[in-house]
Amino acid sequence: MEAFKFSRAATVDQAVAAHAGATTAIAETRFVAGGTTLIDLMKLSVERPKVVVDINGLPLDKVEATPEGGLRLGALTRNADVANHDVVKRDYAVLSEAILSGASPQLRNMATTGGNLLQRTRCPYFRDTAHACNKREPGSGCSAIGGHNRMLAVLGVSSDCIATNPSDQNVALVALEATIDIQGPSGKRSVPAGQFHLLPGTTPHRETALQPGEIITSVTLPKPIAGSKQFYLKLRDRAAYEFALSSTAVVIKLSGGKIEHVRIALGGVGTKPWRALEAEHELTGKSADAANFRIAAEAAMRDAKPASENGYKIELAKRCIVRALTNATVQA
Ligand SMILES: Cc1cc2nc3c(=O)[nH]c(=O)nc-3n(C[C@H](O)[C@H](O)[C@H](O)COP(=O)(O)OP(=O)(O)OC[C@H]3O[C@@H](n4cnc5c(N)ncnc54)[C@H](O)[C@@H]3O)c2cc1C
Ligand code: SF4
Repeated sequence: MEAFKFSRAATVDQAVAAHAGATTAIAETRFVAGGTTLIDLMKLSVERPKVVVDINGLPLDKVEATPEGGLRLGALTRNADVANHDVVKRDYAVLSEAILSGASPQLRNMATTGGNLLQRTRCPYFRDTAHACNKREPGSGCSAIGGHNRMLAVLGVSSDCIATNPSDQNVALVALEATIDIQGPSGKRSVPAGQFHLLPGTTPHRETALQPGEIITSVTLPKPIAGSKQFYLKLRDRAAYEFALSSTAVVIKLSGGKIEHVRIALGGVGTKPWRALEAEHELTGKSADAANFRIAAEAAMRDAKPASENGYKIELAKRCIVRALTNATVQA
């Protein structure tokens, strides 16, 4: 780990000012929340900030009802507290299930809503400075294309990067159509969860819509859809403490035997938490049956581009989608 300056912020304005006013380049300043991603990567010399600003003293640790009937999760709410919150379990079960499927109880006690949104890929070459990686060192090349890529993405890939976004929480937030609330040197703004993460394209080091100096203050969940059912299914190499090979978050509402509303997001297969718009389109207004679920799954994976070792993910993801939809509608 390299030496860095450390400071603590007591207000959001102070955090933004500390970030923007740092004597080093803005990109060399990092906020630290739970530290479960950042500190690991600093020990590996993958992240080498010159300044670390501790934001744990900020008043962003509340779960509050919004006037619109939704729920606001402060950026510093711990993953365990969100997953076990009574209203989250009742109205946003897919988020609770997704968070509880990730990491370990100890990690979930530390990890925060904001930090989870910004967790970095688990691509092994990104985490090992001995290998070329465009995400870590722009322009250095991609060791995963043609290397070990069994865990990596098949949707949204580019010739510069095929890394997956590893989060479970973020998949549920996309299916729930949450918004990410941000504050920075230019004021406050909100970004839909589906637009918060960026495709790698030719700039895989740019991962989110966050601009230098901006801080995530909260995540807002919209008013729950009355009568909808939700489900999160995660498929992985072992039953616990493992990242997804493929996951599916479903929010679905049936009316008169037909699908009135459906939102589907995929994890483990995309370079960002993946909204399966084509699948939603196939299902809306149709019967909730196995044949239609399979048609939707085919549509979701139509544009998948496998690398040398991860072609199995395409069929796995289709089965994951079908099973998640089946489980959600069995409850309906
Ligand atoms: C062994 C292990 C297994 C794991 N398994 C899973 C899994 O199965 N599923 C899963 O989803 N996750 C998994 N995780 C990842 C874990 O969920 C993340 O490490 C955690 O959510 C990050 O949150 P944090 O608060 O600790 O972030 P930090 O490490 O504090 O920060 C992460 C990044 O976010 C930035 N940041 C933090 N808060 C803010 C904010 N409010 N505004 C702006 N920037 C901010 C930091 O600067 C840093 O760049 C695993 C982690 C480990 C170590
Ligand atoms: S897939 Fe992305 S993160 Fe992995 S080595 Fe290639 S550029 Fe780096």
